[in-house]
Amino acid sequence: MRLNRSVIQWSVILYIALVIPVSLLHETGHALVCSASGFDYSLWIDGTGGHMVCAHTPSNSVAYGAMGGLFGLMGSAAIIGFWAAAKRHPAVLVVGLAYAVDQAAKLILEGFFTPLYASGATDLFLTALQLVSWIGLTIYFARTPKIQAVTSRTK
Ligand SMILES: [Zn+2]
Repeated sequence: MRLNRSVIQWSVILYIALVIPVSLLHETGHALVCSASGFDYSLWIDGTGGHMVCAHTPSNSVAYGAMGGLFGLMGSAAIIGFWAAAKRHPAVLVVGLAYAVDQAAKLILEGFFTPLYASGATDLFLTALQLVSWIGLTIYFARTPKIQAVTSRTK
């Protein structure tokens, strides 16, 4: 299997460059539900990504939990939209799809399995899912067709 090195490089660069923006968007989703419930919140970023703390737990815990992933999914859709505009940069599609997988998993876990997610029990699963989907998609879209072996025949 031959892999296109530029697709791999751009996949790595874009994925890392978008960690903070996607994470901030995710936390903004939670923050909106917090503020719509009439509570104060703090939102900040550090080396590990975006963070948000709501002064109280909003009564609609499904909306509160799921809105992070929903906003993250909208960000992923925007990345995929950038790819679709030109359809020439597969690394952009790879990164958009990889973020979509991660954010969809978070939407489900945070919205519907809130205590399990909050306990940290799913952290390892989410990290593994992130790595497997990103690496798998990168390899899938970096594959280049095998160069046909041309056999020359002498008569
Ligand atoms: Zn979240």
